[in-house]
Amino acid sequence: MSASQIEMRAPARPQLRRLCLPSFALAAVTALILWAAVADLLQQGRLETVLSAGWAELAAPLLVALVVVTGICERIWPAEPRPVLARGHVQDACYLALHAIVVIPLMTLLSVGGATLIGSHARWIELRSTAHWSGWLLVPLTILAMDGANWLAHYADHRLDPLWRFHALHHRQEELSVLTSFRAHPLMHTTGFILATIPVVVLMPTRAIAPVLITAYVCVGTLQHANLRWTFGPVGRVIVSPAYHRLHHATDNQAVNLGVVLTIWDVLAGYARFPARRAPVGRTGLDGRPVPVEQAARPQPALLLLAHQLAEPFRPQP
Ligand SMILES: [Zn+2]
Ligand SMILES: [Zn+2]
Repeated sequence: MSASQIEMRAPARPQLRRLCLPSFALAAVTALILWAAVADLLQQGRLETVLSAGWAELAAPLLVALVVVTGICERIWPAEPRPVLARGHVQDACYLALHAIVVIPLMTLLSVGGATLIGSHARWIELRSTAHWSGWLLVPLTILAMDGANWLAHYADHRLDPLWRFHALHHRQEELSVLTSFRAHPLMHTTGFILATIPVVVLMPTRAIAPVLITAYVCVGTLQHANLRWTFGPVGRVIVSPAYHRLHHATDNQAVNLGVVLTIWDVLAGYARFPARRAPVGRTGLDGRPVPVEQAARPQPALLLLAHQLAEPFRPQP
């Protein structure tokens, strides 16, 4: 082999690394789970029914009402006063549309796909004896375990670089509002939904959680991004409040307050920082803006920026 041939082939390995393979691997795993879900549901003739049920849980009138009422409260008692059409709000509204069109069916199918794969490859994890347990014990226990699984997924999002690349999109927001709850890369949900499916399969293999409870859980998780100073008083020691979650979005320390609905996991792990009642409202976002944000001096049009932000985890790292 001549020296010139070696020179031509030498860049091949760095180029491969530059493809950001972990992001493509996560996309492939997600596609596999979705395929398992769709194949199973088509075989049972239940695809449409399950997707409709997912919509009923994740876009319930209760959740829509919560978003509207919280939006009104943000206008009356804002933590940070800003125009209703602030760039951050407009960008988050684009993510809300993406959530409604793409993410809700994706979340529904991820749950079904996760349960299908566990059911066919790891049925031994199902606790059949819980069929005799009272619902008053079993349902709260399962929701508690689901919340713990969501905490673990969030912890992994911050600890593992490939997952952080997807989660960073959520943390770029410099103008938090209730709509920021929907600002997430669709592929960010894969680990969370698979992990949260495990306690349901283990504890309730033959029963289902009432949809209204799932909707209530999602509502509490949505309220945490509100542009409000609310700490929830003594309840805020247990339930994640907007002031508590704002500390997780602070520019200087995002390693605290990882809780999704309950604070107990942060308390147990030593990551809880409870907000003082009249503490000043801190800045949010990522210091130095390592990735494109709508608050930049010359922002792109909202939809173009959204496409740019969604593609970002697949780009070569600098
Ligand atoms: Zn986070
Ligand atoms: Zn958040």
